[in-house]
Amino acid sequence: LLDELQASGLLFPTGVDGVYGLDARFETVVQAVDDLVTREGADDGAERVRFPPVMPMGQLERGGYLKNFPHLAGTVHCFEGDERDHREMMRRIEAGEDWSDTQAASDIAMTPAACYPVYPMLAARGPLPADGALIDVLSWCFRHEPSKQPTRLQTFRMREYLKVGTPQPIVDFRHAWLGRGTAMIESLELPYHVEAANDAFFGRVGQFMADNQKTQELKFELQIPINDGEPPTACMSFNHHLEHFGELWEIRTADGALAHSACVAWGLERLAIALFRHHGFDIEQWPASVRATLWP
Ligand code: ATP
Ligand code: ZN
Ligand code: MG
Repeated sequence: LLDELQASGLLFPTGVDGVYGLDARFETVVQAVDDLVTREGADDGAERVRFPPVMPMGQLERGGYLKNFPHLAGTVHCFEGDERDHREMMRRIEAGEDWSDTQAASDIAMTPAACYPVYPMLAARGPLPADGALIDVLSWCFRHEPSKQPTRLQTFRMREYLKVGTPQPIVDFRHAWLGRGTAMIESLELPYHVEAANDAFFGRVGQFMADNQKTQELKFELQIPINDGEPPTACMSFNHHLEHFGELWEIRTADGALAHSACVAWGLERLAIALFRHHGFDIEQWPASVRATLWP
């Protein structure tokens, strides 16, 4: 599929697995899926916020990402030396030697999931309103998981709705989106199934956390068959965090309890690839019904 996508010009190789340029057709579809998500959620009055693809290192530390997913995180390093250090760096680059120790860790890291910068934003506002907070967020995300599968990128766009508040509305929110999310994929005429899943927690303790997450049904994935001969690909996820982020960030509800949260996430490039895979590389030839859903 990667070869086909490249041959058709939808993806441009860069020489690094999981990092591709995207052509105008691909971007048109990404934009249409993003807009469809906006229409699906339009009546809920979510607050729209956008953060850059990097976030303060301190937020990644406090948000637990380095503890649970050290193998996926990306940090930003920069040159801080003088002219002599620069000459040494260039000498090593020209000689093809390792020059990584000429770079120093900065105070920013790559954003790993669109909702990560939202918790500190909410925490800084003080106690939540009585009906909680509902946030619409989109971010370029980074995960260090290079792959030959075009559906597993190192940087990709994740669109999310995130709800934070008292326990029951959080449960209801996720339940409602399980229904709406599957209806959305049906309207795109894509084959799918939904199943309990887990995140790729690191290490042996992580395996225990992953098993727990799955048996407690804290994560569901909407999976679509995309790569031939491979398991289906998660194109949406529905995540119940209980009070995990409320506790890490000290987010309180109006009556002072630790806030619960849940998010529903769409992988925009994965959904675009799913559409090209199932309806063909020529958008003009897609079923009229699918085109009408995407471009009403
Ligand atoms: P997977 O199990 O395939 O690794 P995930 O459980 O890590 O997916 P989430 O952390 O729930 O995925 O991220 C939300 C959504 O972002 C996913 O449903 C998927 O559509 C998208 N996504 C996650 N990782 C990638 C990636 N490496 N490349 C492209 N899209 C991704
Ligand atoms: Zn999220
Ligand atoms: Mg993953």
